[in-house]
Amino acid sequence: MIEETIRAHYPKAETGAHITQTYLEYLSDHYNEDLKKMLFATSVCADDINVSTDFRRVLSRPFTLGGLGGIPFAGFTGMVAYAHHVPDGGSAFIFYGPHIGITDDGELGKMHRPGQKRLSNSCGALMLALSRLEAEDDIYVPTNVEYDYQQILLERTAMPYKHEILVAKNRKKAITDVTYKNIDRQLHFLIRKAKNEFTCKRIFLLGGVIINTSPGQHDYVEVRNFEAIDFHDMEPITSESIMDQPAFKAL
Ligand SMILES: [Zn+2]
Repeated sequence: MIEETIRAHYPKAETGAHITQTYLEYLSDHYNEDLKKMLFATSVCADDINVSTDFRRVLSRPFTLGGLGGIPFAGFTGMVAYAHHVPDGGSAFIFYGPHIGITDDGELGKMHRPGQKRLSNSCGALMLALSRLEAEDDIYVPTNVEYDYQQILLERTAMPYKHEILVAKNRKKAITDVTYKNIDRQLHFLIRKAKNEFTCKRIFLLGGVIINTSPGQHDYVEVRNFEAIDFHDMEPITSESIMDQPAFKAL
């Protein structure tokens, strides 16, 4: 059973369909949200395989914040545009996270894609980033930066955690976990920075690791975060001039 194999790595994983239904019910029944006025956004990888949840069947088409690896590459401008597009009297809901494949034999970081016999990497971008982190003796210098900037930035976000990833029991799982934390942190930052651009009262965040399985099997999600943020209670990010800092004055 693939479910047992998945739960050996991700004990809290549930099927995408289960997660979709559970959280949509929660939003409408517990929070009394009108799902027709909810603007959905995603920060998941560009990979075509990421259809594990079905939120878009019920909610509006998503605003796409994510790029390779699921990092919210749409950035501040994208977040502000998303904020401005929320229907009057509606609310905002973002589903986010990295993805990782699993083979029928339980190998993480690879998957069997529809219509293909061979196995391929999932997440391909993260597995490439990992192979570059692992090439310790080489000094890797990115070239053609303007043609591959998402991949290069994705690798840069993982770089501070290089040691943690390299000593982990499963490096593929570790770089995926690190990327989850990076997406989560960046989204929270962007939301706070764009706070005054949202006219709705609340934003909901659902984050986790998406687990891709072979064709014919359910995809799974291990939820890592669900929160309802009231904009009223949220501290905005105010920027302080570096010239006001004591260290600057003491130069
Ligand atoms: Zn990917």
